[in-house]
Amino acid sequence: MIGQHDIVSGAHFATTDRWGGVSAAPYGELNLGGAVGDDPGAVRTNRELAARTLGLDPAAVVWMNQVHGRDAAVVTGPWRGGDAPCVDAVVTARRGLALAVLTADCVPVLLADPVAGVVGAAHAGRPGLVAGVVPAVVEAMGSLGADPARTAVRIGPSVCGGCYEVPERMREEVAAAVPEAYATTRRGTPAVDVAAGVRAQLARLGVPEPPARQVCTMESPDHYSYRRERTTGRLAGYVWLEAPADGAEEADGEAAA
Ligand SMILES: [Zn+2]
Repeated sequence: MIGQHDIVSGAHFATTDRWGGVSAAPYGELNLGGAVGDDPGAVRTNRELAARTLGLDPAAVVWMNQVHGRDAAVVTGPWRGGDAPCVDAVVTARRGLALAVLTADCVPVLLADPVAGVVGAAHAGRPGLVAGVVPAVVEAMGSLGADPARTAVRIGPSVCGGCYEVPERMREEVAAAVPEAYATTRRGTPAVDVAAGVRAQLARLGVPEPPARQVCTMESPDHYSYRRERTTGRLAGYVWLEAPADGAEEADGEAAA
């Protein structure tokens, strides 16, 4: 269920794998995406299961309506009423509020400045990389007082450069924006390495290098891959800051539940 869970100075970074949920094939088992054709009840149950396993209140998880853009939203709580806005990055300074990003080959980027008490999550696929969603999320965190030099990052499971074949012209377009994303598949054909591009953008922003470990979704049977399966589920990456130890709300004027 939970593939990885790191804690850095009270900031939590977690990513899921595809096992341990209630979704049926082809979404089996822990599909967390609500817009991929799966039974909404199964997705709701899976989101509750994953949140409880992580020690989170399922109602305190912020999900985005991701559109491969670069817009970032500052949030102070779950969206109220209706659908989530169309953004590919969210940031918050609210402790205990988890930010979630959905992927199946795209790069989930999870960030936290534990000193400032600010976290961010971004969905960086090939279009988002080129559009600049990574600089956008770092900038939005900065608006809340985060410092790139203090920001810890985790890059979750995504398709690797050895697998992500694209037309030559597309490789050129991506490399023109982010040269480090230029790649070649193991078969020798043009490719894009989105994660390498994300890492390069983070480095240019002054963010310390994240750990190198990297699962390729397309090669891993434990992860969803859009490229491999087309109709498939979505993995989630979560980032949050530990809530105050006594569970009390922070003194911000809002009523405690
Ligand atoms: Zn691969």
